[in-house]
Amino acid sequence: DVRVRFCPSPTGTPHVGMVRTALFNWAEARHTHGTFVFRIEDTDNERDSEESYNQILDALKWLNINWDEGVEVGGPDGPYRQSERGDIYRDVAAKLLDAGYAYESFSTSEEIEARNVAAGRPAAFGYDGYDRDLTEEQKDVFRAEGRKPALRLRMPDEDIAFDDLIRGRIEFKAGSVPDYVIVRPNGDPLYTLTNPVDDAMMRINVVLRGEDLLSSTPRQVVLYRYLIELGIAKQMPLFGHMPYVMGKGKKKLSKRDPESNLFLHRDNGFIPEGLLNYLALLGWSIAPDRDVFSMDEMVEKFDIRDVKANPAHFDIDKAVAINAEHIRMLEPQDFLNRSVPYLHRDGLVSADSWDTLTDHEREVLTAAAPLVQPRVRLLGEVSGMVGSLLSDDEYLEPEDDARKTLKESAGEVLDKAVAALEGVADADWKTQTLHDTLDKALVDEGGYKPRVAYGPVRVAMSGRRVSPPLFESMEIVGKPLTVARLKGLRE
Ligand code: GLU
Repeated sequence: DVRVRFCPSPTGTPHVGMVRTALFNWAEARHTHGTFVFRIEDTDNERDSEESYNQILDALKWLNINWDEGVEVGGPDGPYRQSERGDIYRDVAAKLLDAGYAYESFSTSEEIEARNVAAGRPAAFGYDGYDRDLTEEQKDVFRAEGRKPALRLRMPDEDIAFDDLIRGRIEFKAGSVPDYVIVRPNGDPLYTLTNPVDDAMMRINVVLRGEDLLSSTPRQVVLYRYLIELGIAKQMPLFGHMPYVMGKGKKKLSKRDPESNLFLHRDNGFIPEGLLNYLALLGWSIAPDRDVFSMDEMVEKFDIRDVKANPAHFDIDKAVAINAEHIRMLEPQDFLNRSVPYLHRDGLVSADSWDTLTDHEREVLTAAAPLVQPRVRLLGEVSGMVGSLLSDDEYLEPEDDARKTLKESAGEVLDKAVAALEGVADADWKTQTLHDTLDKALVDEGGYKPRVAYGPVRVAMSGRRVSPPLFESMEIVGKPLTVARLKGLRE
């Protein structure tokens, strides 16, 4: 039974690297019919926030990444927030100390640096093992000075190796990893302790996380050995370190990069299917010439061993193109339902859900869906396409780039168009008739090139240079409004 976990620290708004980690863990669990555990690593009071915690929940729920055990849903190994597990860490720390796997360390960082310099090492060389074998008397002296000890884990004097599921054999030379702090002098347990302890107690057997954590793995391997000795862990988990996500240039995508902000992508109108599909490609692929797939397909094919070790590049244009494909695949009504919150945000409709729109809004949107759905790449683009169809304004102020396209002949063109359209009977007010009528009046008889003829009509109808198909739009808004808008731009 594969047991994987996602265990973010709630320090900021969810970012794409974090979600990629959640996605790969989830896919591994679902593919193997294993268990996906969701734990929150909130042991850093200064940086953790409840707001961030709620945002992470919100992100996973929006993306439909569901978990089997963890916060909110509970499970056999709770609590699942580290802030509620202080007693567990104290207990394990005491056992490690008793067994001699950890020891009390009184050195301050200034003292460590000074010793390094005195020994001809760089000041920042790291901890030198000074407190490893202090006698009880020496410890008493330090205590009498009012010092409080940190707990450090004793690293063995041997090479440490493990087989990474993604990178193959990884080796750290003996002595390259100093004894490290697992409990601060004030008693606060650190990530170095809490993370492996929880993985052990939650019976995690596959640890999948980002490459940035690779350097902490040899320490965890050693701690794990001790936990196994103490009967706290059953077995060493397998480790897999997923590749960095790179941004523009050769830089890692940073949490501060706008492109890494998950909610920005949601605000722009990524749908979960599109975004997840793109994130899946950050290190994995379903097949050589295939970019677009569903999460069901991903689950069917996913194997963490197929993930590539080399850095993945976050390419927003490709992400948007993939999202467009998924938007096109939606049922039209589903497309509309999901578009409504964006339209409401942009002030174009009266409510934020389909069911509470007015009949008129629903009618217009239903008619517009087939025109719009194939033409948008993000749901945030729907507003620009349907705004003119929903509006009952008789004059639409052209946007600057639209106004620039208007030629001197625009006035004449609009006059001819109005005359021709006024002659169309209400019952004939249909796309094809409108097309034929204007072709005849403007192109055949008027002698204008189609682009010259339809440019001004389009601007009058939408206020924009790019708009949904013209004749369909005229049919949707109806004759009075069409004629009024053409006249409106004329004046
Ligand atoms: N809380 C750690 C982080 O957010 C998790 C590291 C891990 O997956 O082991 O970076």
